[in-house]
Amino acid sequence: LPLLGSASKLHRTIRCPASNLLPQVAELSEKVIVAGNRGTALHRYLQLAPESEEEALAAIPEQYHAEARTIPLSACAGTRTPPELREVAMVHNLETEECRQVICKDREYGELADEDIPGTADVVIVGFRTAEIWDYKTGSYPVQPEDNYQLLDAALKTARTLARQATHIVCGIQQFKNRGRGEKKKLVPQTKATVVDRFDLDAHEHRAKKALALAREVKEAIDAGETPPVRKGPWCLFCPAKPGCPAW
Ligand code: SF4
Repeated sequence: LPLLGSASKLHRTIRCPASNLLPQVAELSEKVIVAGNRGTALHRYLQLAPESEEEALAAIPEQYHAEARTIPLSACAGTRTPPELREVAMVHNLETEECRQVICKDREYGELADEDIPGTADVVIVGFRTAEIWDYKTGSYPVQPEDNYQLLDAALKTARTLARQATHIVCGIQQFKNRGRGEKKKLVPQTKATVVDRFDLDAHEHRAKKALALAREVKEAIDAGETPPVRKGPWCLFCPAKPGCPAW
């Protein structure tokens, strides 16, 4: 299994690979589970709605229909891209440096190697020597596009598959926030973006390779029954391994 986990975990596993290799024992609070289910439903809606809002609503639980209907689709990045470039699943192999597009169903990416990083880009836009990666966020935790390892990994995968000519890639986040009150309440995307180039992507890969080497040391220590190296920091906040972590 991938030692660094999926791209969405890279913000933590690049800094502390043990967070993916120690037992994942932290219990999710009811609040986190509810937020996760809402996020999954709204992502599915945003994936399907540009073709048919009715079909998109039919694909998600009814409890999210009213909220989904308030989203101004014309302001969402995915309305400008064909369906095959929404929810694009890709895998980055840190050993071979190759990236590949894969089919992903219910977060299952098929067979993966230790050095693979699987991930899904919500929206990819391919231009002339440019590309754009967009990530929808439905949670309230503030997220920035700068130095965002999940976005950098999606940009690198895109640059090595769908957009081989791209010299610059826009890494963007659309975070959905409630605006207005009562009947005028809407779920509106707040857009933030940064631009990266091929040097930034190489630097990201170099950083991930160093984390992979450390992950191998962590795995050896765990297999030998020894205390693995861990790195405590702000990224511990939602770490699923925190209850069993030697740093706490
Ligand atoms: S709690 Fe922090 S130090 Fe411990 S494994 Fe998780 S990220 Fe690493």
